[in-house]
Amino acid sequence: MPQVERFDHEFVDQIPENLDEGILYVSMRFGMVIHLCACGCGNQTVTPLGPTDYKLIYDGETITFHPSVGNWNFPCRSHYWVRRAKVVWADDWTDDQIRGGRARDRYVKDQMFCEPHADADGVVEAETQDDLDGSTADVAAVSPRSGIRGFAKRIAVYFRRRG
Ligand SMILES: [Zn+2]
Repeated sequence: MPQVERFDHEFVDQIPENLDEGILYVSMRFGMVIHLCACGCGNQTVTPLGPTDYKLIYDGETITFHPSVGNWNFPCRSHYWVRRAKVVWADDWTDDQIRGGRARDRYVKDQMFCEPHADADGVVEAETQDDLDGSTADVAAVSPRSGIRGFAKRIAVYFRRRG
């Protein structure tokens, strides 16, 4: 299968059994997005939506998806953003970078939910969530005192920077 260059979207109630390449299946009901890996390998990428997980921007025509999708557990190790439906490829990450991304992600979750870190991974456990944890390193680390407001501000800065 060739690489996907852009993603259309479908808002669905049920996740279809057979997924098409190049479609983001968005389930508001389950708060998740499922798509086939953009590299064409055919693996299913499941991404939960949430304050500390993935965010969708739907501008009426296209979808922007934050942060990047890192399919570290697939042989392809694909890493990409979806910005206004376009797939933007990122470099493959080293294992150290993935670990760093996971640690940061856990830290952000702790700040949001004030839960012991041991629980952070379990909160959104999904099929490939473990891969995806590694993909959130672009979200700026939150200082312990800044709390949710600081986090929201940083996200806003992040989006502006990303343009
Ligand atoms: Zn792939």
